[in-house]
Amino acid sequence: MEANFKRLVIAAYRLPFKFSKTKNGYKTMQNSGGLVSAILALSEKFKKSKDFRVNEKILWAGIDNNIPDDFPSDKLNNKHFNICPVHIPANTNELYYGGFCNDLIWPLFHYFPTYSVFNNNYFKAYEEANTLFCNEIIKVIKPGDFIWIHDYQLLLLPEMLRKKMPDVTIGFFLHIPFPSFEIFRLLPRKWRESIINGMLGADLVGFHTHDYTQHFIKCVKRTTGFECHQNVILTPNKLVKADAFPIGIDFDKFHGACFDKPVVKEKEQIKKQLSGQKLVFSVDRLDYTKGLLLRLKGFETFLEKYPAWNGKVIFNMVVVPSRDNIKQYEKMKKEIESTVGRINGKYSSLSWRPVIYQYKSLSFNELIALYDLSDVGLITPLRDGMNLVAKEYIACQKENKGVLILSEMAGAAAELTEAIIINPVDNDEMAEAICSALEMKTNEKHVRLKRMQDRIANYNVFTWALDFFAQTADAKIQQNQMSVKYVNKQIVSQIKTSYLNAAKRILFLDYDGTLVSFAKYPELAIIDKKTLSIINQLSKDPKNTVVIISGRDKNFLEKQFEGLDVTLVAEHGYFEKKHGKDWKETVNTASNWKSIVMPILKEYVNRCNGSFIEEKTGSLAWHYRNAEMDFAQLRLHELRDDLAEIIRHKTDLEILEGNKVLEIKSGKYDKGQTAANLLKNKNYEFILAAGDDKTDETMFSALPAETFSIRIGKCSSLAKYNVGSYIEFIALLANLSDM
Ligand code: UDP
Repeated sequence: MEANFKRLVIAAYRLPFKFSKTKNGYKTMQNSGGLVSAILALSEKFKKSKDFRVNEKILWAGIDNNIPDDFPSDKLNNKHFNICPVHIPANTNELYYGGFCNDLIWPLFHYFPTYSVFNNNYFKAYEEANTLFCNEIIKVIKPGDFIWIHDYQLLLLPEMLRKKMPDVTIGFFLHIPFPSFEIFRLLPRKWRESIINGMLGADLVGFHTHDYTQHFIKCVKRTTGFECHQNVILTPNKLVKADAFPIGIDFDKFHGACFDKPVVKEKEQIKKQLSGQKLVFSVDRLDYTKGLLLRLKGFETFLEKYPAWNGKVIFNMVVVPSRDNIKQYEKMKKEIESTVGRINGKYSSLSWRPVIYQYKSLSFNELIALYDLSDVGLITPLRDGMNLVAKEYIACQKENKGVLILSEMAGAAAELTEAIIINPVDNDEMAEAICSALEMKTNEKHVRLKRMQDRIANYNVFTWALDFFAQTADAKIQQNQMSVKYVNKQIVSQIKTSYLNAAKRILFLDYDGTLVSFAKYPELAIIDKKTLSIINQLSKDPKNTVVIISGRDKNFLEKQFEGLDVTLVAEHGYFEKKHGKDWKETVNTASNWKSIVMPILKEYVNRCNGSFIEEKTGSLAWHYRNAEMDFAQLRLHELRDDLAEIIRHKTDLEILEGNKVLEIKSGKYDKGQTAANLLKNKNYEFILAAGDDKTDETMFSALPAETFSIRIGKCSSLAKYNVGSYIEFIALLANLSDM
């Protein structure tokens, strides 16, 4: 893997360092957190490895509130980073960061809607702060930069930057969960739209897990109605990819530190205090998402249900101070302290205290020593984007003796499947898990740890970042292939000139959505007289061959174009009819598969009110344009799964997805192949192809480069050009026919 850009620009709320003045000069101290260590490690890699062509220092944009007023700006940069400070006035920052970010997005996206505060001034400040970031960044951006925007504080920034610099490469990564639509829709409509469109300004939007990605795509569909194909979103201007990139840790750093001298010293001290007792350990920031109280209750249930362990096990719960100036957090802290007091009061003896609670930060050495020495890592958040502590704990099991108990609500649970996975609100399950962890056989511990260690050693923090860069580059390539270019006056005149200069021309015209608008039922979509006369006019010109190339059946097409000198291609290329000749089959395919597929489609008609089946000679189509769209999308998903099973056995079948229709046909033919056949040995000097949906994309890709290919509708396509609607396209045809 390599990085395919000249400079990396990070935009994150916090800068990577704290800056202070000392007696002798100036001091910078690294901020804690996964992102800073990841990017620092990357910077080292960029410098050392020849694989990377990144030769400039990383530029980091973040809020300047940690920089003393008189700190000289030339002292901000260091060997790894150039710093781009963003100034956000204190009152705006309070409403932006304290308000919109931490009083609304944080609780809401972690499924705590009752803690969410909805305040118009918060949103205004959020827009303002994102604008301030945008203004600073555009001052320093250069061609070839890769802008990597991080987290929930900057959800609007991708779109803001995109508007100012349409061609720049932007990646966005969300470090917290992306919630389901039922939660997301609690946001006022305008905020929802701003957030989704804001994120879609990026070329690639990354999340920790597949679930968060799916939630995002669902929210995109519900909020904007944009077409989405698996992880690809077709916005009016470009294609955007969304995918899962579970953030990794610097595995070697944690794994390698276990036997460092200062860590060994720490371990010796802890061992003395333990005097042979087993150690259960947890460390988290003080936050309601971490499930701290429920964890204590789970441990209490363990003491109650398994008295044989009393006196033999200690739970060391470390809580790292965070936002404790906020009332809610202060209250939670008090509750934790009183619960610890109550449990210890109930179970302690003269020589044993079951819970050791510490409210403090740990040094790196202390942290590694505790990870390494503990018999059980008890990581049970109620909701967590990823949870790095779980991965660090696994990395530090150098002697393979620890067992990880992990909440199923942590993003990390999707990867660390060999942990004991529990529901954090279920006291009994947690108690049982603690007991099984303490009693687990060495062999089983080894097997579980080995698998998890292999995984996190492999997909470490470098792989994470490089994978993200590679996928962004891939999105850019796809965008170039599918970029939207609207037909303007200049392009119309270019098409017309080429048309007039050509002695031999061919026009491939799709029917539905291209020559007619969609109707409630297919048989109602009848071509109007004016359009028909334009086509008639074109087809009468001896230089022209007009081909109507459609998914429709042959009888319908024949009726619509009766008497016109046109070639008809029906059922996506299955049948072909030259003027005055009979229909001929272009391929010979057996249709015995229909008896298998038809009952499935019928079942879906029953399960999705408003949907219906259209049977053609070579295919079966399930139309859902008259069904409730969201529900139909769900059924469509299930139907695709059911059909995939059949297609696995009947490999010559394929699924075509058109405009609100799913069609099953033989894979031996498509519009592209039929169109290409019609060109063979004919030396056309002018080729035009127009269509409105995915089935027409086969045609756009099969025709020669000089083809004037036009996709109807505002969406990305392999076609060279787009027009806004079929009406604009008819106007273009009228122009060519001089009508
Ligand atoms: N950590 C820390 N100081 C401490 C204890 C832990 O900086 O005193 C680190 C820990 O090593 C981990 C991070 O804090 O990398 C916590 O990340 P996690 O994803 O588990 O939770 P978050 O706090 O980001 O919600």
